[in-house]
Amino acid sequence: MARKIFIALFLVLVFSFIILDVAQVDCPQCEGKGSIKAYSNVVSLEGVVVNYTTTACGYEWWDVTVYLKSNVDRNLTVKVYVTPFDSKSNKTYSTITWNVYVGAYENKSVSGTVTVPDFYGSLQHSDLKVLVNVASEENVGEEFITCPLCKGNGMVPLLDFIRFYFGGS
Ligand SMILES: [Zn+2]
Repeated sequence: MARKIFIALFLVLVFSFIILDVAQVDCPQCEGKGSIKAYSNVVSLEGVVVNYTTTACGYEWWDVTVYLKSNVDRNLTVKVYVTPFDSKSNKTYSTITWNVYVGAYENKSVSGTVTVPDFYGSLQHSDLKVLVNVASEENVGEEFITCPLCKGNGMVPLLDFIRFYFGGS
């Protein structure tokens, strides 16, 4: 007898999960619009590579490559601020500014040479790192982005809707 009740309960449970998953409701995050306004980086910094090249004329020469990614559908020019610092001596050098043209949704890399004084001699160069900041001409603004909850559909399964309100994931 108990077994039958268990089976019945189990079926009810499975059935309600199917309903919850199949039933679609308006997405609670974007109210069915599929996109939300969010602060986004117009151009984001994807990576920085720093390589020692040589020591010459009293300076260490370093190649710096900065990887950028545009998140907007228009071309723009950004300022890339490169601040070298030597982690051996904990010394920060003056900031270099690069103006970089970035196309719509473009993955862009930009390279340049950075020189710092040769304190260590060419056989034992500094341990150079760079701090990189990217600033857009326009303010980093509010952009419409695809709603992360419904992935732009505007509708979510009832189960996701319930999860949204009860804080699960
Ligand atoms: Zn949504």
